Amino acid sequence: MNFRHKCLNSCTAGAIHLVFCEEFMINIPKGTKDVLPAQSYKWQYIEDCARQVARQFNIKEVRTPVFEHTELFARGVGDTTDIVNKEMYTFLDKGNRSITLKPEGTAGVARMFIENGLASSPLPMKSFYITPCYRYERPQAGRLREFHQFGVESFGAGTPAADAEIISLAHAVFRYLGVQNLTLEINSIGCPECRKKFQEALKAYFESYREQLCDTCKSRLERNPMRILDCKSPVCSEIAAGAPKILDYLCDDCRAHFDAVQKYLQAMDIAFTVNPTIVRGLDYYTRTVFEFVSSEIGAQGTVCGGGRYDGLLEELGGKPMPACGFGMGIERLLLLMEAQGVPFPEPKKCDVYLVSMGEAAQVEAAALAEQLREEGLSAQFDTVGRGLKAQMKYADKLGAAYTVVLGDAELESRRVNLKNMRDGTQTELDLDDFVGAFQSIVLREALAALDTSDLDEADISTILGGVQN
Ligand SMILES: [Zn+2]
Ligand SMILES: [Zn+2]
Repeated sequence: MNFRHKCLNSCTAGAIHLVFCEEFMINIPKGTKDVLPAQSYKWQYIEDCARQVARQFNIKEVRTPVFEHTELFARGVGDTTDIVNKEMYTFLDKGNRSITLKPEGTAGVARMFIENGLASSPLPMKSFYITPCYRYERPQAGRLREFHQFGVESFGAGTPAADAEIISLAHAVFRYLGVQNLTLEINSIGCPECRKKFQEALKAYFESYREQLCDTCKSRLERNPMRILDCKSPVCSEIAAGAPKILDYLCDDCRAHFDAVQKYLQAMDIAFTVNPTIVRGLDYYTRTVFEFVSSEIGAQGTVCGGGRYDGLLEELGGKPMPACGFGMGIERLLLLMEAQGVPFPEPKKCDVYLVSMGEAAQVEAAALAEQLREEGLSAQFDTVGRGLKAQMKYADKLGAAYTVVLGDAELESRRVNLKNMRDGTQTELDLDDFVGAFQSIVLREALAALDTSDLDEADISTILGGVQN
């Protein structure tokens, strides 16, 4: 396709349009966001913390495709859900296969687990992922069409301890990041057996309000009355407030399981409240469900949601096996951290900027930068051909800790002045031993910082992380 002759604004100017039409600009699709260079360190910080916590729980990362066969989500998310019915990015590929961009992370990991025979690996098998997800929703703060999740799935452990551990993992991520004021709400939605009685009671209850329910809920009444409890329409949610509560219908085993989850959480000193209105109206969700909720980021207050889904693997054609997990929305977490003024550690800046004057010096600077980078330092030289002043200005913008000027005189004498940009002090160094000498200066500074022992937790974990890597 020749874009030069195709006008996106349907004007008739053709190729000239590119030059003259100010509106000729391809914008980002609605509901998506760029992560700009000045912001990416916040993402990296959150992701690094999540990885660090996962490591503490002995959990390995997995990566599954961004797209899967549509059938996986129809079965693995549930074809009575809004996600599957209204929100999926589904298309036919060139081979006429129905493909869907993943609307959530669990189904793909469950598919991976079954397809690769991981049921015969040491169990429980816990894994985590950081992935983009796609849902066609009305965008608002904290709700995008492309969003990102940190998720954890655990296969092969059916005990209350497994639920509590998964919850404690999410809790640990929030604690590690320094996020405040999150409420952990938990509930049990029972097993298929006790839920049958609950569904009947729900159906009878909502039947008496049938005429007032929204059209979607009228059809939910037949297919899955539990989903009415999730309806966002004010009328439906008012009716739902008086509906029977699942906790009153739990069988003895489910009751004991739920009590034990609470016992573990108490033992771990993780505060929670029981909220009987949290439901996941899908057949394979069982027993524990939970959410971490904030009141500080508007209506989209759920930062993390998860639970137990003992029926999922079987639903997808695998052996029956207990499973639990959660998904944490990174955009919402970021919003919340910014709203709370949680500090993000500044990214490491440029160690040294090599200012060069003249072509010979520029070549020398390039060689020096290469050697410094080989030693793990961050170095930059001029690749634009700027003058001295402009290079210094750029070095300043980069936040370079040191600068050194290379000109004909320095090349001749093989001596250079290293300037500390923070305090302006200068140190004369031998150009031919520059890398070694500079390295020991950087190392001495790092040790001095250790000595003053004003390190905060983030510094220490950076140092420890560096050692462990
Ligand atoms: Zn039960
Ligand atoms: Zn409704």
